[in-house]
Amino acid sequence: MCGVCGIWGPAPSDPTEAARLTFFALYALQHRGQESAGIAATDGRDLRVVRRMGLVGQVFAEPDLAALGGRAAMGHTRYSTTGSSRIENAQPMVVSDPWLGELAIGHNGNCINARDRRDQLESEGVTFTTSSDTEVVAKAIVAAPGATWDERIVAALPTLQGAWSLVMLTPHALYAVRDPLGVRPLTLGRKGPSWLVASETSAFDTIGAETVRDVLPGEVLRLDDRGVTQLADLAADRRGLCVFEHVYLASASSRLGGQTVYATRERMGEILAQEAPATADVVIPVPDSAIPAAVGYARVSGIAFREGLIKNRYIGRTFIQPSQQLREHSVALKYNALRDVLEGKRVVVVDDSIVRGSTSGPIVSLLRRNGAREVHMRICSPPIRHQCFFGVDMARRDELIASRLEVDQIRAHIGADSLGYLSLEGMISATGATSGELCSACFTGDYPVPVQLELSKSSLEREVGAR
Ligand code: AMP
Repeated sequence: MCGVCGIWGPAPSDPTEAARLTFFALYALQHRGQESAGIAATDGRDLRVVRRMGLVGQVFAEPDLAALGGRAAMGHTRYSTTGSSRIENAQPMVVSDPWLGELAIGHNGNCINARDRRDQLESEGVTFTTSSDTEVVAKAIVAAPGATWDERIVAALPTLQGAWSLVMLTPHALYAVRDPLGVRPLTLGRKGPSWLVASETSAFDTIGAETVRDVLPGEVLRLDDRGVTQLADLAADRRGLCVFEHVYLASASSRLGGQTVYATRERMGEILAQEAPATADVVIPVPDSAIPAAVGYARVSGIAFREGLIKNRYIGRTFIQPSQQLREHSVALKYNALRDVLEGKRVVVVDDSIVRGSTSGPIVSLLRRNGAREVHMRICSPPIRHQCFFGVDMARRDELIASRLEVDQIRAHIGADSLGYLSLEGMISATGATSGELCSACFTGDYPVPVQLELSKSSLEREVGAR
């Protein structure tokens, strides 16, 4: 996951404006990463950076925004995919070159040839201090041929494989870059004289900016006082936006592929009701991500929509490193059940996905303890059987419950009376895109570029530990 954003404003009247707008944009991208957050800002001479572990609201205080200042800024919220959850891996990361000065970089995605690129760069004398693939991307840019950052960025990108939506800042320009398949989203926006980029359109809504268009797959954009310039078009011959952005990752209020994510999820629920009907008294969502899907399921099935689980809005992921123990415990911390909705009822409970399978079982038993007579679990995506190498911390393949068990075994494992998944075709048609425009590899195993199946989140960890 991870959220990235940036703003280039020609002459904001308030010298803290760029950092402040970035701060509020990061709030709107908090769902994409809750481990660390950071902002880099420039006044046209040098770069200033504040980055710490924790949520956006915990990381920045008023004096930080005043100190950052700046006529341009960029920000990042982190959810680790390569490299563990620790401050050295927090972003924006800053690299420098004796001739060109400093470059701050924020990355959403996963560079799948990071280990090889790092070995090559190390053999050329480049040193590394973190276990994050972002440092590999940044140092590949520093080491690339070229007399300007523009040239080095364009030269370095073809040596990388995988997923990257990058935002980079120097004292002279802001860069927005998307990998050739466009796996992670990135959009271009405008607010008065300022240009913006953000992982999701919801960030623009939050700060009163308008969405202009997507940064296209393979596009390298430079934003500066002259406006927006396309430096390169490195698009592949197919597209590969992550379908899981539609299912779970993106905010329901963001627009992806021309429609709101909310509308897509409602449609997923409608199709699921046709594909996996149930005889029941109420339809309830697992809040918040499955609310639109449950609305769609209820509408098409004709079964009443009710809320049967209330989510504690204050439980999020903190700087504590994600672990299986934390995930299992979090169900009890996260949800309270409404007995008066559930008592004696046959309940359809709609969730967006089953990943490891540790959430659904405790939810089914919570519903039963609160009086549900039958529990019919309905999932708005197909079984997840394959690891993600492109920027989602989906767990290793052997941790994915659907890679080990058949659907009826999963039903028995979670203790539901029935279990129904949305089909691959149903999920894709709800997005309004075609299968050739999406990456659905976590469901199909059909990766849009070849991957080394042994890659793991800590694949760069060993080398750092050895030093
Ligand atoms: P589990 O099956 O226990 O791994 O949990 C699945 C639930 O976690 C889903 O219903 C989602 O709401 C949420 N979820 C899905 N993908 C992720 C992810 N990559 N990281 C954290 N939570 C996720």
